[in-house]
Amino acid sequence: MPANKKMGRNGGFYRKSLETMPIPQKTGYLNRKLKGIIRYAYHHSSAIKHKMGSIGVIPKDIQTIQDLEKLPITQKADLIEIQKKNPPFGGFEGIPLSKLRRIFVSPGPIYEPGEANCEELGWAQALYAGGFRPGDIVINTFNYHMVPFALNMLDNSLFRVGCITVPTGIGNTEQQVHILKYLKANGFCGTPSFLLQIAEKAEEMGLDPQKDLHLRVGLVAAEMLPESLRSKLEDKFGAILRQSYGTADIGCLGYECGEKKGLHVPDDKIVEIVDPETGKALAPGKVGEVVGTTFNKVYPLIRFGTGDLSFLTDAPCPCGRTSARLVRIMGRIDQATKVRGLFIHPGQVDEVAARHPQIGRYQMVVTRKGDKDEMTLRVELKEKMIPSEKGKEEIEKSIREVMKLRGEVQWVPSGTIPEGIKKIEDQRIWE
Ligand SMILES: [Zn+2]
Repeated sequence: MPANKKMGRNGGFYRKSLETMPIPQKTGYLNRKLKGIIRYAYHHSSAIKHKMGSIGVIPKDIQTIQDLEKLPITQKADLIEIQKKNPPFGGFEGIPLSKLRRIFVSPGPIYEPGEANCEELGWAQALYAGGFRPGDIVINTFNYHMVPFALNMLDNSLFRVGCITVPTGIGNTEQQVHILKYLKANGFCGTPSFLLQIAEKAEEMGLDPQKDLHLRVGLVAAEMLPESLRSKLEDKFGAILRQSYGTADIGCLGYECGEKKGLHVPDDKIVEIVDPETGKALAPGKVGEVVGTTFNKVYPLIRFGTGDLSFLTDAPCPCGRTSARLVRIMGRIDQATKVRGLFIHPGQVDEVAARHPQIGRYQMVVTRKGDKDEMTLRVELKEKMIPSEKGKEEIEKSIREVMKLRGEVQWVPSGTIPEGIKKIEDQRIWE
């Protein structure tokens, strides 16, 4: 790919003045948007009115982002029960049912209101920062059925960026390859694992993905993107690949710029990192639950708990965007737990493992002996690696450094730990 073409997709902004707004002005802007949506939701969404009323809060009590702490968090799991009691949306919709264009159904089931024109800013910012440009022909391989992401959020956002969408949906890998080739499509939206499947299918069909296909840009979501997989895919296609993060309920909560230094929070959301115990917002650098608030009047979720763990940085990004960034997603909160009074999470277990390249699969097991919590990291070594006392001590030292707790290492034979297992297994029984 010519260097200048690559540069052109790495720079630029979807809404420059907003994205690069100096932090004091940006904070003022977000506070104004927050006040607006709180006032709107209080008067138009019975669920938000109830959520605020239950603790005696009225709209004028929420003036700034810091005031959000006064409100309880609505967890995704809560939505299912609230919706059952008050169908179809639990009162979270901000416009009358008759004004909707679609109703989406996500696993749970959770029902989501779909507006006539989804004008969410976040995904459009994600696409532009990811290198999508007007005139690009894009295959959108996310699932178009039932759920809102592919159709409502992404398809509409591609349109607003100026791209031409081929709504291919998931599956039919061989056909996807034919479509990419025939239309000279240069953009991909989907999961990284599906993009890899497409590359492998193309090769199986005797094609060189880089020479015979024309992919130049990809936006992936819904799965982790390890750097090794990113470079593999970028090399195979000669394309740039950026990741994004969000949920079907609330939309985009983070996107990568050309710097690839974390996920910028879009300018139509407030993202807090919250202590799972207290519900209070945590400072940058501290790991907690990702809690989002959207300015979307159709579905005004206020303090929506995603169940994902991450941490924020407010260090300036060389790209010029002034929004904070989620540094990386570190697993699910239901896999986090407290050991000897300290919060531990899957991201820490990964960090310990990453320090020792000889580690294959691994799992941290929490047990209780007498009145004391114990932590044991079960480790399978990679092929040809031999367990040693020294190796064990080094890993135990990393556990102490990363998790601030003492833990033991136990070697287990290869094949003991299944793939995709929970990183932290809590085996304590409380009576
Ligand atoms: Zn940036």
